[in-house]
Amino acid sequence: MHSTTTTTPTGATAASAPNPWDVALEQFDIAARHLRLDDGMKEVLRTPKRQLIVSVPVRMDDGSFRVFTGFRVQHNVTRGPAKGGIRYHWNVTLDEVKALAAWMTWKTAVVNIPYGGAKGGVICNPKEMSESELQRMTRRYTTEISLLIGPERDIPAPDVYTNAQTMAWIMDTYSMHCGYSVPGVVTGKPLSIGGSAGRNEATARGCMFTIREAMKALGLSMQGSTVAVQGYGNAGSIAATLLHQAGCKVIAVSDSRGGILNRKGLDPWEVIGYKAEKGSVVGFPGAEKISNEDLIELECEVLVPAGLEGAITGQNAPRVRAKIIAEAANGPTTPEADRILHEKKAFVIPDILANAGGVTVSYLEWVQNREELFWEEDEVNARLERVMVRAFNDVIRIAKNDRIDMRTAALALAIGRVAEATRVRGIYP
Ligand code: NAD
Repeated sequence: MHSTTTTTPTGATAASAPNPWDVALEQFDIAARHLRLDDGMKEVLRTPKRQLIVSVPVRMDDGSFRVFTGFRVQHNVTRGPAKGGIRYHWNVTLDEVKALAAWMTWKTAVVNIPYGGAKGGVICNPKEMSESELQRMTRRYTTEISLLIGPERDIPAPDVYTNAQTMAWIMDTYSMHCGYSVPGVVTGKPLSIGGSAGRNEATARGCMFTIREAMKALGLSMQGSTVAVQGYGNAGSIAATLLHQAGCKVIAVSDSRGGILNRKGLDPWEVIGYKAEKGSVVGFPGAEKISNEDLIELECEVLVPAGLEGAITGQNAPRVRAKIIAEAANGPTTPEADRILHEKKAFVIPDILANAGGVTVSYLEWVQNREELFWEEDEVNARLERVMVRAFNDVIRIAKNDRIDMRTAALALAIGRVAEATRVRGIYP
């Protein structure tokens, strides 16, 4: 297995941070073996359909020019148009984007929405760029990948360090090329240009539903259960507020600069306000400073990794004490860590299930765009809940029947659906 040279959310060293694409393939192979897929089908399903690398020249505010590298990968489009977010991060690699695209294929299949999987990314440090530089970079990146994207072909959405504003720039740029407004080219847009009620909270809300169902299955109560959240962005901070509302006690949270702990419980909204003002959760009054490594190993009922890949590895998995690990992030757990957690009987809600609420409401946004008819937030949330509860029950049933871990069960369900779609369509020509 190749290792990356990047720093992981836990600050782990290069040797312990496996390449995400290797991780995705290893996970795939375990589930494909379980399904007894033949070698030909395995080869078809594990191979990304299209991989585009683009150069993105940008005029910076000081008049100089910089050329950024961007990617868009479509992993599989057998069940419908490609779907997946766009990430801006200094450590983005083609292999990371390939892994994230593959996980999107399995995610859309596990919740049974009619999409394939894709992902995009640009190697950049958005924290060091001005709003106008980010806008110019986004517009040029959109233009460069416009040979792939479109409301019937490939629909981007927000991911790490991109947001509704980024989606608005992509939608506007694509619409300018077409000469008319095309809201359905992206999801996660602002409400004022065709976004959906409930989309901003959807990843976290879906994650909360899966945690609630897991607690029911394990005979635990949400009331008073302790929660630690790594990564206090869109997915993590909103998950903290929703779990708090459901009766849980959020004892620790973190971001890229470190973490905070208060065993009596934190007020997640106050922490959101503090981070908005100071740029980090670190320094929040009344809380003890902890590292991202410490947070992963805290004694708690629920651990929510909501940062980047590689947070739980073979090195720290033996010290994870949470009963439930709900993967709001994509790819936070390595296969080696999975084996250790399974032996320890920790209950892992895998990423392709735990964070599928985002793409589910993205699908609802796209449907509303195509219908030009918009729903109230309670309608969106009710549809989301139905999809998440059904998917959770489908996966746990397979895990119990086949005596396998939740990740392999989720992947087996998803890969089985894509394999069936591939079989009935046939391989062209
Ligand atoms: P975001 O940019 O809103 O937040 C990312 C958060 O992670 C920030 O608080 C940042 O400080 C923190 N972070 C970054 N590096 C870190 C590190 N090394 N250690 C600890 N924390 C770190 O991004 P997001 O949209 O919330 O995405 C977070 C995760 O959730 C990603 O894995 C993403 O792929 C996944 N996800 C997001 C969505 C969505 O709809 N936004 C949907 C599904 C999955």
